[in-house]
Order: sequence, then structure tokens, then C-alpha cells
Amino acid sequence: MHAATILAQLDHVADPSTGGLVPSIHPGVTHRRSGSDGAMGYARSENGGATLVETILRQLDGGEAAAAFGAGAAAAQAVLATLTPGDRLLVDSGLYYEFGRIIGAFAMRFGLGLEQVDLCDLNAVDQSLAAAPTRLIWAECPSNPLWRVPDLAGLAALAHRHGARLLVDATAATPVLCRPLTLGADLVLHSATKYLNGHGDLVAGVLVASENDAWWREIVAAREAQGSILPPFEAWLLLRGMRSLALRMERVSKTAWALASWLVLQPQLRAVHYPGLPQHPQHELARRQFKGGFGGMLSFELDDAAAAVALCSRAKIFRSSTSLGSPESLIEHRRSTEGEASDCPAGLVRLSIGLEHQDDLHEDLRQMLCTDG
Ligand code: PLP
Repeated sequence: MHAATILAQLDHVADPSTGGLVPSIHPGVTHRRSGSDGAMGYARSENGGATLVETILRQLDGGEAAAAFGAGAAAAQAVLATLTPGDRLLVDSGLYYEFGRIIGAFAMRFGLGLEQVDLCDLNAVDQSLAAAPTRLIWAECPSNPLWRVPDLAGLAALAHRHGARLLVDATAATPVLCRPLTLGADLVLHSATKYLNGHGDLVAGVLVASENDAWWREIVAAREAQGSILPPFEAWLLLRGMRSLALRMERVSKTAWALASWLVLQPQLRAVHYPGLPQHPQHELARRQFKGGFGGMLSFELDDAAAAVALCSRAKIFRSSTSLGSPESLIEHRRSTEGEASDCPAGLVRLSIGLEHQDDLHEDLRQMLCTDG
């Protein structure tokens, strides 16, 4: 079944107890123990809304098991909680900065080996894996905010040859465009806060696993221990948002592609980063790994931070704000958000494309760049 159909129908009957086509909210903390009738247990382990989110994401990503969390960061913490001192972790050198910070602090405190490698360079990954036993490769597809695209099948093959697992943060792609588990990844992480929900009104995360194995059970046990399950009200909102996901990804991909194709012609820009552009270094790979578009995220670079900040301040339609995947298009100077320790290019401006008419976004970019073209 196509993703659009799964999402629109939310597993056909969203609420089996009533036959309702719209899921109900089940806030109950505990449930009557009645033996074998499938009644739920305690709400720190499961709730009806989270279970339905998990069912849908498992189908979309083609996984064996899924777990919904109260944030993408909570999903990451549950994975980290399964690592033990001495474990070695390979992360992308261009990893989303907040996860880089969180994983770095965790590794320091708990004695993990942490190495940053350009995960788009399979030779470098192979060499790093050969240098020492490695537990986990933490990739992002596409990476935030340069939207680089690692070869997921290649990474998975290398990881498995060296006895490691591959986690892919596919937040910006969503399973509508890219399904890392079908390419060999072991675990997919989504910040559902972003395009999955699509309305900018909740924080949530989901993990989907290729196998319901001992590692997965440890991850789910960590969620229970940390109390980080997706709560019922947020689950309900997320399900409501996800029904339009396929339509939204189609729309934002079209708009982002058109805007990137125009931006790349503007002489005052040093670079435009969008996997849908033929000039993108992994464009051919992205064409194979993505289906139905390249997503709504792109970045471009001006000469320096001052020029980028000044450009953002001229935005009229784009909202000057962090995050991604909201209905309104967002613009931000990444270095200002990430702070002094950031190694993001100083003049980089990140755009999250929303649902506005393409012509209005184009006109806004045109006036921000002070160009008549
Ligand atoms: N992964 C990516 C690529 C992100 O951009 C973000 C947040 O911006 C996260 C994970 C973290 O997700 P959350 O904010 O839901 O904790």
C-alpha cells in the first residue's frame, strides 16, 4: 500500500473499540487486568495513541518494531542509554549540531569512544571501522544543515561487515521520501516535531527498528525507565498532522526544488545546498535513495555572517525562527542559533519550506537578496 493511503486512513479503523475513523484520546494511566484480552498496562509503557503512531511508522518505514517518544531527543537518549563504557561510536562530521553536543557530552561522561567521520566518504568510514571495534554508526539523511546524502546501503554493508549497527536520523526526509531500513539500516530516528507532524505545535520522536531483537528491547526498556513515551494528547495531535504528510512532502519538495533552482543562479550566493540540484555532490545518489522528491529543506551561503543576518532581517513572508517542517516557511542564520562553538559556515542561511504559494516565497527571497531577477 502507498504511504499516502496508509497515512490518510490511519490503519483503516483508527479506534477499534468504537469503530471511529478518527482515533480517540486515551489518557488513562492504568487499565483493568483481565488476563488475555489484550488490555493495555501502565501508561509509562504504552498508550493507545503512541501505539497507533508506532503502527503507522512501522508500516511506512518497513520495520519490525517502533517506539514513539516525547521528543526526537528522547529517542536519541534511549539509544544512548543502551551503550556501555568503552563502546565506540562513529558520527557524521556534519551531524545536526544539537545531537553532536548531546552525544559528545554523553560520550565524555560515560566513557564512550567517539569519532567524527565524513559519512559520505565510504573509504574513510571503512578505515575508521577497521581501526577499532565499533558499536554504532550515527548517520543523518539528509544531514542538517548542509543536506548532504550518505550512501545508506554502502554504510549499512560496511557497518555489518565490521560488526556495527547503523542508525539513520531521517527527520528531514520522512519515510514518504526515504526509507533507510529498506537500504539495510538497523534503526531510523525521526524527530516527529518536524515534517511528520507538520503543524509546528508539538514535540515528538519515533524510532523504527529493522528487528525486534535484544537491542531493540533494551531501547524500549530505556524509554520506560526514562518515562519518555509520547503522551496521549501529543500522540493524537501527531496522528492528526500525519494524515496530510504525503501531500505536504510532495508540495514542499516541489517548492523547495523550484526555489533552489532559482537561488543557484544568483551570483551573490557562494553556494546553494539542496540534494535535488544537479550541482549537489550526492545528487545522483539522492535520486536513487529518495522517491518522489528531495524534501523541503535547503540552505544557501552569503559571504559572511553580517550579510546573512541582514538578509534574514529583511524577510517578510518567511518567519525568522528555528526548527523545520512547520506550515509556515522558516528562515534562520544557523551560526547565530548554534553559537560560538558552531562550525557551520558563517554566512549560511537555512530555509524550511512550508505550505505557502511558491510565488510569494520566491518574491520574498528576491526582495531579501535585493535582486530583480
Ligand atoms: N534530528 C534532527 C535532524 C533535528 O533537526 C532535530 C531538531 O531540530 C532533532 C533530531 C531533535 O528533535 P526534537 O526537537 O524533536 O527533540
